Amino acid sequence: MKYIFFILALLFSSGIHLMAQTNSTKVVLITLDGLRWQELFSGADPLLVANSNFVSDTTALKEQFWRESAKERRQVLLPFLWNEVSAMGQLHGNRDLGSKMDLKNSMWFSYPGYNEILTGKADDARITSNDKIPNPNETILETANITGRYKGKVAAFGSWDVFPYIVNETRSGVPVNAGFEMAQDDNLTDREKFLNQIQPRIPSPWGSVRLDAFTHYYAVEHMKKNRPELIYIAYGETDDFAHDGDYAAYLKSAQNTDALIKELWELTQSDTFYKGNTLFLITTDHGRGTLPIESWKGHGCSVNGAGAVWLIAFGKGVLEKGEVSKSEQLFSTQIAPTVLKALELEEQAMNMEEKPLDLGVN
Ligand SMILES: [Zn+2]
Repeated sequence: MKYIFFILALLFSSGIHLMAQTNSTKVVLITLDGLRWQELFSGADPLLVANSNFVSDTTALKEQFWRESAKERRQVLLPFLWNEVSAMGQLHGNRDLGSKMDLKNSMWFSYPGYNEILTGKADDARITSNDKIPNPNETILETANITGRYKGKVAAFGSWDVFPYIVNETRSGVPVNAGFEMAQDDNLTDREKFLNQIQPRIPSPWGSVRLDAFTHYYAVEHMKKNRPELIYIAYGETDDFAHDGDYAAYLKSAQNTDALIKELWELTQSDTFYKGNTLFLITTDHGRGTLPIESWKGHGCSVNGAGAVWLIAFGKGVLEKGEVSKSEQLFSTQIAPTVLKALELEEQAMNMEEKPLDLGVN
C-alpha cells in the first residue's frame, strides 16, 4: 500500500513539474531593421509613394499601397498587424497620438540599436560602429543560456552577418545563424537541406545581408525541431532597400515580413508546446529620416527623427489594447528586462537598470 502511495506521489509531482515546463512562457523576439514608425502607423508615405526619384512605377505602387486614409493604408501594407495583432495585442509608438518610444543610445544605427534591445542598456562608449567586434556586453540570450533552466533552449537567426558578434556567439554559446550561414547539425530536415541548396543559388542584392526568407525558414525549421524557449529573429531587408532608395521594395518587404510574422504566430498556435504560452515582441533598431525627403533613406545621429522607434506585443500575458493612443514614453532599453521577467528570470530582470514593461496592466 505504501508503495502505491509512493508511486502515486511520484507521478503526481512529476506531472506538476511537466505542467510547469509546458505552461511556462516562451518568447519570440523579432526585429525589422529600420522600419519607420511612419509606415507602421500610416502605411505608404504620400511624399514617397508617387515620387519618381524613389519609385520606378508609381502607378503600380499606388494601386498596391495607396488608399485615402492612413488607417486603410497601414491595413493594406501590414494586414496581419492591423487586422489580427491590433485585436489581441498592443502597438506602441504612434507619435501622432502621443505614444512615443525612443532609443537611449545616441548613434541611431544598427549595432548600437541591437545592443540596446538585447542588453537593456545603451553603450555609447564601446558600441560606436557596425564593425564585427564581439560584444563586450551580455545579451539576454546569453543571460538565459547560462542558466540551467534555459541552457540549449535559446537561439538567434539574423539576415545581417554581424549578429554572431552582437550576440557574441563564441562566449555566450547561443547558436546564431546569420548572414549567409547554412543550417548545420547532424540531423538536418529535408527543408533545411533544400534551404542550404538554394541559398547560394539566390543571390542577395547585398554583400552582408541575406534575403529574409532564408532567415525566416531556417528559424521555422529550428523551432519545429528543437522548440527553443527564447528565439530571436532579426529581419533585415527593409533597411537595405531603404538605403538603396527603392521605396517600392521597402514597402513590399515590410508587407512580406508581416506575412512571415503571421506564419510564426500560426506555427506557435498549432504546436501544443507554444500554444497559449508564447509572448511575441517586435521592434526595430532605429528609425529613419523624414525631411528633407531623401533622408528617409538613411539614419544615424545626424538624421532628424532616426531615434524614434516602436514596439508591438501580443500573446501570453499581453492585454489587448490595440494601437496605444495615450501619452507615454517608452525606451528600447525596457525590452530586455521584459523578456527576462517573462522567462521568470526575476533576479536577472531586477539587476537591470530598467524596469520591465507591464504589458498586462492598463
Ligand atoms: Zn541602415
